[in-house]
Amino acid sequence: MSPDGTDQSQNAAGRYHRQMLLPDIGDAGQQRLSAARVLIIGCGALGCGVADLLARAGVGTLRIVDRDIVEETNLQRQVLFCQADADSARPKAIAAAERLRAINPRINIEPLVDDFRAANAALITTDIDLLIDGLDNFDGRYLLNDIAAKYHLPYIYAGAVGTGGVVMPVLPRGCPPDRAVRWTDAQATPCLRCVFPEPPPAGSTPTCDTAGVLGPTIAAVIANQAAAAMSMLVGRIDEFDRSLHSIDPWQGEDRRLHTGSPRDDCPCCHDRIFEWLEHGRGCDTSSLCGREMVQILPSSSSSLDLAMLAQRLAPHGTIKCDEHTLRIDLAQESTSITVFADGRALIGLADSTAARTLFDRYIGS
Ligand SMILES: [Zn+2]
Repeated sequence: MSPDGTDQSQNAAGRYHRQMLLPDIGDAGQQRLSAARVLIIGCGALGCGVADLLARAGVGTLRIVDRDIVEETNLQRQVLFCQADADSARPKAIAAAERLRAINPRINIEPLVDDFRAANAALITTDIDLLIDGLDNFDGRYLLNDIAAKYHLPYIYAGAVGTGGVVMPVLPRGCPPDRAVRWTDAQATPCLRCVFPEPPPAGSTPTCDTAGVLGPTIAAVIANQAAAAMSMLVGRIDEFDRSLHSIDPWQGEDRRLHTGSPRDDCPCCHDRIFEWLEHGRGCDTSSLCGREMVQILPSSSSSLDLAMLAQRLAPHGTIKCDEHTLRIDLAQESTSITVFADGRALIGLADSTAARTLFDRYIGS
């Protein structure tokens, strides 16, 4: 039975008929989709798009985690939200859940308004069959990769900025036989750290808020993410594209980097050292006592090219920059960010979650 009290098996034949005609899905595949529990971390453009596709496909439970509220600048690409959501600044997870329930009342939607971090990661991922990356920061992605490797969960990494995007499915080695999605060690793939041993330093990469992002790029990325997810859930483990797939529909580019086997020197999926999950790695966010100010320390200290960062941030506010610090008074927000050459940042807000959101948007981590 489903949440609305109807018999899902009788109704599914009609609702899911067109995809059940596909030999790879059929009755058995649809039942597997219906029994599946998928976690979507981050409900921005990627999270919205994948949630929409998986809800329509009849994935039985979608747990959606996001710390943010809907803003008008989201509406160009975040397909689950409408003007009223932005006008009333609704939490994204709540607005997404309402829309998804309207699209498909026969599935379970579990919204969670929270910041995904090491302290709550294990709880958030409990009873989940597959992890979808809808994140906008690398700390979150390396934390998700740690979770995937530690608990042997499939993880679909993805990102998009400008006109380009990437997708890479991860099947960590050592999958136990009792899982909804099962694979052998011979079918295992490299994890995120096998391919990118270290995340890029904070402030070194463009973000959607500074470089922009194209709607059709999001559509291309989510199509690949959702196709990989559905393939895994119906058991097409050998068939789906397991490359590091980079897509740019604006430039007409489509490249696949074959990543080979998991690395035997990977600290995460081989040595099982989960730095983001268990050893406090990642940006440290702390409110400064007595001041409306949050300090963010990057996970590893690095020398930041402040002149280049100033160039990237120039369209977004008034900048003062010398070789030691960069301060931007943001045009779209009533606050400022000060970044030091070692990557440390001060955000002029009292709330540490809101400060972290602003840091990820403008500086990037
Ligand atoms: Zn690895």
